[in-house]
Amino acid sequence: MPRVIVKRSSYHDDKLRSHIFEMMASLGGENIKAGTRVLVKPNFLSPASPDEALLTHPAVIKAVSEYLLQKRARVTISDSSALGSFEKILKDNGVRDALAGLDVGLAEFRTSVKVDIGDPFGRIDMAEEVLGADMVINLPKLKTHSQMLLTLGVKNCFGCIVGFRKAEWHMRTGVNHEMFARLLVQIHQVVNPCLTILDGIIALEGQGPGRGGIPRHLGVLMASDSALAIDATVCRMLGIEPEDLLTNRVARQMGLMPGPIDVEGVLPRIENFKMPGVTSLVYGPKPVQGFVRRHLTRRPVADESLCELCGDCWTFCPARAIEEAGTKLRFDYDKCIRCYCCIEVCPKGALRTTESLPAKLFRKVIQKRDSSGRPA
Ligand code: SF4
Ligand code: SF4
Repeated sequence: MPRVIVKRSSYHDDKLRSHIFEMMASLGGENIKAGTRVLVKPNFLSPASPDEALLTHPAVIKAVSEYLLQKRARVTISDSSALGSFEKILKDNGVRDALAGLDVGLAEFRTSVKVDIGDPFGRIDMAEEVLGADMVINLPKLKTHSQMLLTLGVKNCFGCIVGFRKAEWHMRTGVNHEMFARLLVQIHQVVNPCLTILDGIIALEGQGPGRGGIPRHLGVLMASDSALAIDATVCRMLGIEPEDLLTNRVARQMGLMPGPIDVEGVLPRIENFKMPGVTSLVYGPKPVQGFVRRHLTRRPVADESLCELCGDCWTFCPARAIEEAGTKLRFDYDKCIRCYCCIEVCPKGALRTTESLPAKLFRKVIQKRDSSGRPA
């Protein structure tokens, strides 16, 4: 039975270090030996300060590193960011300063190797550094995600695909959330983190995972030997069903979802956590799915007062659905696959999703039918 350890903590709390040491010792710390090559995988989405709650907090990364160094492990901290230089991420997030004097490597994933992650994806390019490590420690941030509802332990492993290849996979699976969830689960299976420590001390609610979200203090730290168990436990904490998170549902269909979970510590019940608006892209028979995607799913829109036409969104958009039109952005909603990467990478929080009028009417009809007890 997988174990999930829950602690109430803060970044400035002297107890953070002792909480992390306790969790790591209890969840397989004895397997870390002198010389063990440990790859630590935080969430380094893009340059941001710790207060913005977009990235794993440096205090968490530091405490994990200190535990590993105490065991005389060889520690490398790596990720592949969506946008922005790795060095700027380390500086803006304070990781470089926090780790000063510690004998750890800090390096961006650069080299890809082909790995067979199973049908239907086959051989895909993943970071060589992950596959060459003796163990991987996964350090996700608790954030909402406009495409996948939440980004937690399983989704954090997607960062093990190097650079722009992530956008390519969004493109190949983006029209189908279920297919993307399956890709995430299968990548997670290959990364196979031996330990996941979730930074939910200051989480991100609303239209995450980028600056469209709002930081919210939850004061929660969770650790488990199973990222899937962490993800299911976070859902319970936030008052939603574990299978509302598509990666959990897909993992259950694949026979990977753990059964009962042994939760140690008091799991708080977080009230009114703001989830992003997420709509399915694939309901209806195949011939109407294109219509559904174009007209009934939430579409990205820009707030012109915040947009500085920096170009990050159109550079990253895997479908090439955004262009500069004078002083504005123009979206091609026929091309747009609703992956919401643009929202994720916008440094100004200028993008959000909105429902079109047909989508609003359609949702109202569905809700009315639901509330009248008839099948939708
Ligand atoms: S919406 Fe954001 S990412 Fe896109 S051009 Fe404007 S500021 Fe840059
Ligand atoms: S416009 Fe935004 S949501 Fe649409 S495909 Fe491009 S990045 Fe994805």
